[in-house]
Amino acid sequence: MWAGRTGTLLRLSGWWPTGVLGRRLLNCNAASLAGSSSPRCWNCGGAGGPPRGDRFFCPQCRALQPPDPTRDYFSLMDCNRSFRVDTVKLQHRYQQLQRLVHPDFFSQRSQNEKDFSEKHSTLVNEAYKTLLAPLSRGLYLLKLRGIEIPEGTDYEMDSQFLTEIMEINEKLAEAQDEAAMKEIESIVRAKQKELTDDVSRAFERDNFEKAKELLTKMRYFSNVEEKIKLKKIPL
Ligand SMILES: [Zn+2]
Repeated sequence: MWAGRTGTLLRLSGWWPTGVLGRRLLNCNAASLAGSSSPRCWNCGGAGGPPRGDRFFCPQCRALQPPDPTRDYFSLMDCNRSFRVDTVKLQHRYQQLQRLVHPDFFSQRSQNEKDFSEKHSTLVNEAYKTLLAPLSRGLYLLKLRGIEIPEGTDYEMDSQFLTEIMEINEKLAEAQDEAAMKEIESIVRAKQKELTDDVSRAFERDNFEKAKELLTKMRYFSNVEEKIKLKKIPL
């Protein structure tokens, strides 16, 4: 597509200046009156953009604004900052946002808006994916509190748990037929369900250390789930 290729070329050639081709000049007086704390529309200089909350477009010129860097995934997806998330509501919100910002709707718009729509769309995808799965949602909640779980924290796990994981991995390596795979799958699924409930309780009690320990366990089972998926791919 001609427009698409031009977009790529412009991106490759570097920074594409704002306000080209018939765009109004930035209203310097209005911008300086409001001070730097009040964000202005990149396109017309009008008040009200870049947006806070759900104002994605400038109320004056309707130009798409860049994403708000201070907004977390829970706020973007209109969810309470909690481990309990209504996944049906989350899905509706995802669809609602993609109908607003998806790059397909900006193919005839300025390069700035094309770039912003791509940024918004990537963010919305990432936020949706992160909040949908209990493991990534829990890890994200901890991250917002400044708690991160680095990979390879084996030394912190009790030996009983590590033995359990080892045994499941051995079973998986030995599994020869679909019935054996299904059995392992159901064991892992039950474990993940149990851990998800425990994580939920830990967050409700603000017991972040416990949540961290349980999420680390979930990550082990999640790795087993990945291995099951790989083994299912026919060679
Ligand atoms: Zn504007």
